[in-house]
This record gives sequence, C-alpha cells and structure tokens, in this order.
Amino acid sequence: MSFDLVVRNARIVDGTGAPWFKGDVGTNGSKISFVGKLPENVQAGEIIDATGKVLCPGFIDIHTHSDFLLLRDPLILSKLRQGVTTQGIGQCGLSPAPISAEKIELLDQYLGFIKAGAKPDWNWNSFADWLNALEGLDLGTNIAAFVGHGTVRIAVMGFEGRIATEEEIKKMRYLVESSVEEGAFGLSSGLIYPPGVYSSLDEIAQVCVGLKNKNGLYESHMRNESNDVVSGVMETVSIAENTGIPVQVSHHKALGKDNWGLVKDTLNEIDKARDRGVDITANQYPYTSCSTTLRAILPPWVQEGGVDKVVDRLKDMSIRKQITEEINSASSWENMLRHAGGCEGTRILYSPYTPEYEGMTLVEIGECMGKDPLEAAFDVIVANRGADNAAYDAISEDDVKFVIKHPAVMVASDSIPPAEGAKTHPRTCGTNPRVLGKYVREEKTLTLEDAVWKMSGFPAWRLGLQTKGIIKEGMDADLVIFDPDSVKDMATFENPNHEPVGIDHVFVNGVKMIKNGKHTGKTAGKVLRKR
Ligand SMILES: [Zn+2]
Repeated sequence: MSFDLVVRNARIVDGTGAPWFKGDVGTNGSKISFVGKLPENVQAGEIIDATGKVLCPGFIDIHTHSDFLLLRDPLILSKLRQGVTTQGIGQCGLSPAPISAEKIELLDQYLGFIKAGAKPDWNWNSFADWLNALEGLDLGTNIAAFVGHGTVRIAVMGFEGRIATEEEIKKMRYLVESSVEEGAFGLSSGLIYPPGVYSSLDEIAQVCVGLKNKNGLYESHMRNESNDVVSGVMETVSIAENTGIPVQVSHHKALGKDNWGLVKDTLNEIDKARDRGVDITANQYPYTSCSTTLRAILPPWVQEGGVDKVVDRLKDMSIRKQITEEINSASSWENMLRHAGGCEGTRILYSPYTPEYEGMTLVEIGECMGKDPLEAAFDVIVANRGADNAAYDAISEDDVKFVIKHPAVMVASDSIPPAEGAKTHPRTCGTNPRVLGKYVREEKTLTLEDAVWKMSGFPAWRLGLQTKGIIKEGMDADLVIFDPDSVKDMATFENPNHEPVGIDHVFVNGVKMIKNGKHTGKTAGKVLRKR
C-alpha cells in the first residue's frame, strides 16, 4: 500500500455526526483511499502526525456571496483558512447569470453590493457560460452555483414593480430549468429585495417547478425575517409542500428585539412540516448582527425601479421627509433600522465612495457630517449609488443558540466579500472556526460531531454532492486538520479580515492548500455541476 498523503493518529470526525474515532487516513490523487489503521512502515509522499488534532471533511459553506469576488481573487484565502473547501454561490436571488446583453446594466446595478470591487466584463449570457467563465479561473475552493430568482426576473421583465404575467412566469421557469440543466444546484430568492419583493407566492412556486427534473434545491431569503417571520416560514413550507421541491430557509433568525424568541415558533412549524413529510431545512450564521445593503432601511416603494430611481427620490427633499416619517413610524414592511434598535445599532461596513465612514455607526457618521443620522444615511446611499453594505445589531444570542442546535439547521456564512481593503461582517472570515471555538469548545452548545456534520455532511447531502462531506474510502479528499483546543475565530468589526487560529491544514481534491495556516501557492478548486 502506498499513498500520496497519510494523516496518522487523528481524531477522525467523519462528517456523518457519528462519534469520533482514532485512526489514519490515506489519499491518492484527489480521493480518500484508506480509512482505518495503517502499518508503521507505510509508504507515502507525505505523512502528517495529527496526534491531538481533529481530521474532518472540508467545510461546505452552502450560502456565500463570493460570486464576483471569484473574478477578482479566485483563491479566496479567507474561506480556505477557515477550512472551507466548497462554497455555494448565487444566493439570496443574486446570481450573475443567466442574462441577455440588453439587461446587463440593470443586473450590474442589482448585484452592486456583492460586486466586491470586481470589474466583470460580462462576457457570459447563459448559466453554462457563467460556469465556464468560473472554470477558467485558478480556484481555491470548489464552487456550487445557484441561479437567482431576482436575476431571472430581471432577465424576463427588468425591474418592474408588479405581479408577473403567466407568460413571464413561464419564461422565468424555463430559465431556471435550463440553468439547472447546465449545472446550477438550485434556485435562490431574496424576497425583501426588489425585484424579488414584487413577486407573488404563486410566481415563486411556479418558477420553482423548473427545479423538478434534477431535484434542485430552493433556498429562500424569506419575505420577512422579523414581525412576520412565522408567516415567512409558512410561505416557504407551502412552496415545498405544493411543489414537492426540497426547500431551505436561508440565514434563519428573528430580527428585532420585539421578535426575539419567534424562532421557537418557526422551528416548530418546520418540525411539523417535516413530520408531514415536507422536505424543508434551514441554515444559519453564528452571529447576532445581520448584514445587507444600507438601502434596506428604505420602504419598498422607494426602492422600486432600480438604484437610479432610489437616488433620484433621495435627492428630492420632500420625498426624503416622507421616507423619514415612514421609517420612524410603526410599519408593516421590513424596517431594518427599527430592528437594529435605531441608528446606533446600524453600522456601515463598506461604502467605496465614502470610505471614511466604513466601520462607523450612523450616529457616528451623523456627528461627522453635523447632520441627523438618518439624513447622513441617505447621503451615504446617494454617494455610493447603492454599492454599499451595512450591519444591523438585530439578533439575540439566545436565538442564535436555539437555532444552531436544531437538527434541521446547518451552518452557512452568508458572507458578503468586501472590496480590497474594505471592511465587512466578521462572518466572512470567522464563521466556521467560531462554531468550533465558541459554540463547541467554550459554550458547549453543540457537540464536535454535530458541528462538523452541520458544516460538511449535512450541506453535502442537501446539495446532492455524493462524493463530498464525509470521510470514507472513495470520497473526494477535501480535508481539514484543526486543533480542537485552540481553534477560534479572530475576525471582529474592527478587524474583520483577521484570519482564525487553530486551522492547521486544508486539502482540496487531495491538494494541500493550507499548511500551518499559510497558503501553499496551490490552486485546486473545481466548478461542480448538479448531476
Ligand atoms: Zn439573504
């Protein structure tokens, strides 16, 4: 027996949730070729003694917004350093394809806040074109791409703020069907963002039918994650129930102090649905602040018609006054400022045209400008033409723990990558080590085996990746070796790009990508396609 790599004496957590066992793993090429106990004199290109360390499958971060970052920095070291070996992209309704030439400008604006400083040449139309473009890059991790409902809606009907016609729904469904045929793993939606916000339940359900042939997954950033989060979950359940499509609730939480604790009701609904045989799951990031655009503070009608219209409205002082009144009054829409407890709990993470405000709360920015904080926020939106990103302190720690423990919930970062040098939410660089450090070792919210399952075997199964997520002979050699006693996230709002500690070695398709926390110079990621 000879191997390219042997990892010896590891505590093997195999990704299934089963108890760890001590053993050796051998790999040849891109595959795991042995799991068990090897003789002392085994022949191998490299032998790593992992005594005291955990060996587990590479983490699968099913929900990221790395789409455009891949174009600027295909390696994405911030993921590899966390032990992530596969990323899901195209989430929350936002995917770079499919798109026709005449709609590129609209789509480019729609995707502004995930552009990460990339300057795409847009030389793709179909989903297959997009995957081929990714394939030409020197990828660090594997990629599993979703097609976005917002993107598909823009392709068919632009930014129109109305219900889709039967004919338009048919076109959208066709685009989803062909995207999945070409390799997309599912459909994502972002039902708080225009144009997703204008869609009816019937539209979403009918468009989801395009996933049927290949059993694609529907991932939803629900219509409401606050006052009406329970009905948001019921709507998502009904889509799964009425279409037979597997469904996943994205970044599950209840936003706003008034709504803390509602996750008990939502997960109860998910349990009841699962008991009826409805295939619904959820994912979550392990933080108490959420992140999205700053213009998410605006009422939906202000966001209608695309970024140019938003800017025009905010430049009109009488409309500004009306917007301010609506934001400050009790409202039925997803009022992000209210959920964050006001301007104090709202922080600009990324604003390329006003970088001096990055990392500051709206109150601090108001002080700098000598203005009311909300006026200051409007100015920042106008100056950045919507290409911004903000964080909102709107989630309770008790809820984070309650959700992460639920058996139908997996871990995903929902990372929004920054432009070069800009700040971002710490979840981008900290999610996986935070689960292992804070929620496994320090607070014992999860067992080690459960946490690893939620970050490897579970998302692999959800994506239908039959050769990933589990340590077993014949599986892909996507592997992580970490120190269970020291693993820890180091990313904070002040220093969001700080790399974690305790993640020693990371292998992608059998290739060593990270050695003692440092990049080896290799690239081994592959573009995966739904089978
Ligand atoms: Zn989202």
